[in-house]
Amino acid sequence: MVTAPQHASSIRPDSIPVIGSRIKGSNVVDPAGPLFDVYDPATGVITKRVSLASSDTVEQAVEVATSAWRSGWRDSSQKQRFSLVQRLHELVMERRDDLVNLIVFEHGKSLADARGEFDRAVDGLDSTLAFPVALQGAFSGQVARGIDIHSMPYSLGVVTTITPFNFPLMIPLWGAAAALVCGNTVIHKPSPRVPSAANLLAELIEEAGAPAGIYNVIQGDAIAVNALLDHPGVAAVAFVGSTPVAKHVYQRGTQAGKRVQALGSAKNHAVVMPDCDIAFTADSLIAGAYGSSGQRCMAVTLAVAVGPVADVLRAALVERIPALKTGRGFDEGVDLGPVVSKESQERIVDLVTQGESQGAEVIIDGRVLAAESEGFFVGPTLIDYVRPGQACYDNEIFGPVLGIVRVETLGEAIALIDSNPYGNGAAIFTSNGETARIFEREVAVGMIGVNVPVPVPVNSFTTGGWKGSAFGAHGLLGPEMYRFFTRTKMVTTRWPESGAPSMSMAFNPET
Ligand code: NAD
Repeated sequence: MVTAPQHASSIRPDSIPVIGSRIKGSNVVDPAGPLFDVYDPATGVITKRVSLASSDTVEQAVEVATSAWRSGWRDSSQKQRFSLVQRLHELVMERRDDLVNLIVFEHGKSLADARGEFDRAVDGLDSTLAFPVALQGAFSGQVARGIDIHSMPYSLGVVTTITPFNFPLMIPLWGAAAALVCGNTVIHKPSPRVPSAANLLAELIEEAGAPAGIYNVIQGDAIAVNALLDHPGVAAVAFVGSTPVAKHVYQRGTQAGKRVQALGSAKNHAVVMPDCDIAFTADSLIAGAYGSSGQRCMAVTLAVAVGPVADVLRAALVERIPALKTGRGFDEGVDLGPVVSKESQERIVDLVTQGESQGAEVIIDGRVLAAESEGFFVGPTLIDYVRPGQACYDNEIFGPVLGIVRVETLGEAIALIDSNPYGNGAAIFTSNGETARIFEREVAVGMIGVNVPVPVPVNSFTTGGWKGSAFGAHGLLGPEMYRFFTRTKMVTTRWPESGAPSMSMAFNPET
């Protein structure tokens, strides 16, 4: 049984802190506005409340960010931006424990998972130190006599990043660093379920020397998001979250004339071939399915067993899963923390129950822990005979549930993946290079692992899915992120002494 940690049980209901938005370095709480409860998912105790921003507060943030862009940040030197990222790196490293603890306390993930998130967050920050090269333009001299052309990436203005609960530091930091080095000013809208890392990150950006108002945080929900989407002063929206909201954000934002990228949900299949190394595959699937209690967009949720490997795989998983330790994220040795909320816990349990009534076999049942614990726990769950048409196949579960799907051939496995509405990640476990090559060339998803369960690319590449997992053309990292956060100016130059102007649109071929 999981019990309340000391730091949560000592908070009395009348002393629950209220977290506000952070605009130009100030905490902004709307005294009359609605409050959103933040829980310690390990105990189910309310620890904080978020003051949800009104559209007036959003207006204030857009004014501040617009003025900060116009009055300086768009013209900031590369050296100033470079120094900001370097200093931010130092401060983030100094506050590592605080950031990691905030993630564990509000999200619930294990210390090991939170440290992993921290490391990937810093990787993304560091990769932006390459921006002077990434943002170079092109130059063509003497395209006609006396005429040169150069292009230069230019900032967009005020951009907004809207982020999900499951990476409260990593995704906000990636977005912040990329948007700022491109010369934009930023309004970040985190998930109100995990509000604190966002505000601490904003403080660190300010402390690192950011001019006032270039980075702001709006704590809010749909009202704030819609106000940002409709506001003519916001040039671009980078969203990460669930597909229904991603679709809404994409449609409403583009209708308002903004540049929008919106990354959404996933249902990631791992194909298991009969020639795989079964111990390695079972260990990989367990890491990919149950890490962060399955609350990753790249979690492996379905093992597609080809032919006779299904029974062997099932036995290897059944042997290993009972060794996983579920408990408070702060406790050393814990593999799975709680899921983020009561609603998540109930949704996960319900999808497993529906799947069971539709013909799936629950082999290891994490619903038992859900029924027993005070916090929002679900134990690692394994289901066999999962197939399309069952609720546990058709929906993103976003919890510690791995399903085995049985098929006869690789072609059948690929067809299954391709007919799924999502296309975020997929993996194959095999010892045959040709099989792997066929898979990686044919399968219609954005991120593919060969004997790698969670194939999130390193930061010099990009991340982002296909089909219903992403709307808009750009990915979350690397060169595509720089393109998203800039627009290109092309400058054609002629100096008066270098030739007479022509009436024609074309450059004079004689010259
Ligand atoms: P969510 O869609 O509920 O929330 C995402 C953001 O949108 C939050 O800031 C939230 O406050 C806001 N929001 C929620 N409802 C809204 C509404 N009706 N109108 C406007 N804004 C709204 O997602 P979540 O539960 O926080 O995160 C989990 C989801 O994110 C999963 O589906 C997961 O697959 C996805 N995700 C995707 C990626 C990716 O790279 N594709 C990465 C991480 C998470």
